[in-house]
Amino acid sequence: MHETTVKIRLFGDPILRKRARSVKEITQSQRDILSQMSRIMYESLGIGLAAPQVGISEAMIVVDIGSCLFKLINPKIIKKEGLMVLEEGCLSIPGVCIKVKRAKKVKILAQDEFAKPLTLEAEDLLARVFQHEIDHLRGKLIVDYASFFDKLKMAKKLEELKKSAKDERLFEQEAKSCKLQL
Ligand code: ZN
Repeated sequence: MHETTVKIRLFGDPILRKRARSVKEITQSQRDILSQMSRIMYESLGIGLAAPQVGISEAMIVVDIGSCLFKLINPKIIKKEGLMVLEEGCLSIPGVCIKVKRAKKVKILAQDEFAKPLTLEAEDLLARVFQHEIDHLRGKLIVDYASFFDKLKMAKKLEELKKSAKDERLFEQEAKSCKLQL
């Protein structure tokens, strides 16, 4: 992965719909990808990023809501509790905000970048970001949560995005229209 060629993949790119493969062996290559992902997340003012969003179909995510940076490999949600609705954006779908109903609390099993097993418990915003990024690893996007009315509203925007998937600069400004970028 060369720094200059790394770009956030946009809606319409088939890699965003693929299920990411689980990482069998964690090597320096995964650690490099995770640090590049973190850099791209911070540069894009995002609070989470999944590997498929940078064109790598491996089960890896980075999350930082302002407290600390999580780099997780093979994350799995093993427990969910409560429900909360909040508007989310996605770095891969600039300009689109969708109200998404998610668990308020989650328990997650994962590995860190040195293959050490981790158990995490998160709630509220952090739980939401983990759920959004883990969705990416299953090929699931916020548009899949849209109500019928939301779908009508964003239909045109999504068509434009698909057509201009190669010219993401067009949408850079709009990307900031939603508070949570993940
Ligand atoms: Zn996203």
